[in-house]
Amino acid sequence: MTIDFKQPAAAADAAWQGDIRAGVRHVRDLAALPLSPAERAAAQEAAAGHKVRVPKPYLELIDWNDPDDPIRAQVVPSPAELVAADGELDDPIGDHEFSPAPRLTHRHADRVLLFPTYQCAVYCRFCFRKESLTSIGRGYTREALEPALAYIAGHPEIREVILTGGDPLSLPDKALAEIRARLEAIPHLRLLRIHTRVPVALPSRVTPGLVEALQGRLMVTVVTHFNHAREITQATEAACRAMRQAGFVLLNQSVLLKGVNDRVDVLEELCRELMYRLGVKPYYLHHGDLARGMAHRRTTIAEGQALVAELRRRLSGICNPTYVIDLPDGGGKVPLAASHIEGRNGDAWLIRGQDGKARVYREVVS
Ligand code: SF4
Repeated sequence: MTIDFKQPAAAADAAWQGDIRAGVRHVRDLAALPLSPAERAAAQEAAAGHKVRVPKPYLELIDWNDPDDPIRAQVVPSPAELVAADGELDDPIGDHEFSPAPRLTHRHADRVLLFPTYQCAVYCRFCFRKESLTSIGRGYTREALEPALAYIAGHPEIREVILTGGDPLSLPDKALAEIRARLEAIPHLRLLRIHTRVPVALPSRVTPGLVEALQGRLMVTVVTHFNHAREITQATEAACRAMRQAGFVLLNQSVLLKGVNDRVDVLEELCRELMYRLGVKPYYLHHGDLARGMAHRRTTIAEGQALVAELRRRLSGICNPTYVIDLPDGGGKVPLAASHIEGRNGDAWLIRGQDGKARVYREVVS
């Protein structure tokens, strides 16, 4: 559904709530999808390991005649998810290890992850937090966030709060406004960052009420999660425009997924459309985390490096994402792109150019 920003608030809320109701909400709704009996049985078995939810606007993007459709691959459970490979992890990036209070992760001095809900508008098969979403399953309550808010208030080195989850934009406007107001009351906080798939999968949820709930003293950055240019539609365009016009900074992080976006032409189109059509800066391209049952969607690092080297040749700097890996055990995000530095002799550096030729760059400093 395309968003009409002039419609009354009640109608805007009815629109996105209708989009959720008309989508897949439970395992039993898989029966309504045009799958073969064998595919349906396999999907139902796989859904036991990670929840299923697909709002109508995202469901409508699927080409059911294509068994390898990149939208379908992201949300319809696959029997391949039942195969856990050696080395895969329940908590691939060490969220729990760095959790000083419930619903909080503090890995880097100046920022924290806050989990107001463990529920999402869409459940992505590749999610690296799926164990938390499946095992915890709790939504937002004021009381549940109190210890985390007290911890943030007591740590003046924290400047940024990243609302993640679960999907924070799946919460009602009132809850978002409450969380924003509580954070604004902590004087050392400067930036509110929101990580969300809502503008991708349920763009009708980006209502005037939602935008207003997030506006206040803190700088707001919304990090969207588009993985394929087919996810960019008139409705996602309207949602991003509304957030840009509210003054939010928009960035995108994608996950490199085999069979979804592991081709240079697919990534090139995605990055161009994000920047040129949505005004969303491609920020990170994540190497696939070690989430359980996802070996069939991971590429090798060498494949990822080759893709981003070619992207770098084709795209301007503003359209290029940084290829990163989130290391296990809380090692944090580090860049993975192959270095252009070939060697060094004192102040002379041998650096490979975009044309593949190595040149000497001599440092001149006073
Ligand atoms: S919306 Fe985010 S947290 Fe929720 S399932 Fe998808 S990737 Fe995971």
